[in-house]
Amino acid sequence: MEKQALLYEGKAKKLYKTDEEGVLWVEYLNQATALNGVKKDQIQGKGELNNQITSEIFEKLKERGISSHFIKKLSKTEQLVEAVTIIPLEVVVRNIAAGSFSKRLDVPEGQPLKFPIIEFYYKEDRLDDPLINEDHILALEIATTEQIQEIKTITRQINQALIDLFKELSIKLVDFKVEFGLNQAGRILLADEISPDTCRLWDAETNDHLDKDIYRRDLGDIVPVYQEVLRRLEEI
Ligand code: UDP
Repeated sequence: MEKQALLYEGKAKKLYKTDEEGVLWVEYLNQATALNGVKKDQIQGKGELNNQITSEIFEKLKERGISSHFIKKLSKTEQLVEAVTIIPLEVVVRNIAAGSFSKRLDVPEGQPLKFPIIEFYYKEDRLDDPLINEDHILALEIATTEQIQEIKTITRQINQALIDLFKELSIKLVDFKVEFGLNQAGRILLADEISPDTCRLWDAETNDHLDKDIYRRDLGDIVPVYQEVLRRLEEI
């Protein structure tokens, strides 16, 4: 497999074409951003940690019957994925109140929710990724009714699989964000990444943050924390 032209450079990843139709080469970068890019830093080692953690998680989801765009890990910082057209939605699942949910609705961080809440954000940097509902998605023709239903069904399956997986690692899955794409056959596939950058993970014993809140809230160095998540993932 040969890496070819750069297709897209995002905040955390670069995407390249390959010599195989429908297969893309992803390189994870060391850049960390928060507050929609207002806070930005280079953190040595972050790219390889997120590539390895995402690869582990996508493999474990596959074992549990949930397919994704992930094909294989190539190196510490690179992986191969199936080419998809990303649906411009950030699909957030919340099991425990935290972050913007706690702030917006004045619910204390750490309060368990009665059931998993699914939220949709319109992935549009220009608008700061606004929270939208299903009518907005239909009116803006971001997805069809059937696609929204399928996305919600897969998202609930991902949530349960991740809750079970992280429980084995003594980690509570507070909330997370996933993205979906359409592959060349028009099938909806889990895409992007699942890592401590996109999940809130709390140690089951201590409630310590094992995620990007360490960076967002200036609580310390994310590298040893992400290493700890990877260590626990590799142990099982
Ligand atoms: N999230 C993400 N990318 C974003 C926004 C949120 O991966 O652009 C994840 C975040 O890591 C958390 C969940 O989605 O696990 C919910 O985030 P929230 O809405 O609470 O926003 P935040 O407090 O991170 O601004």
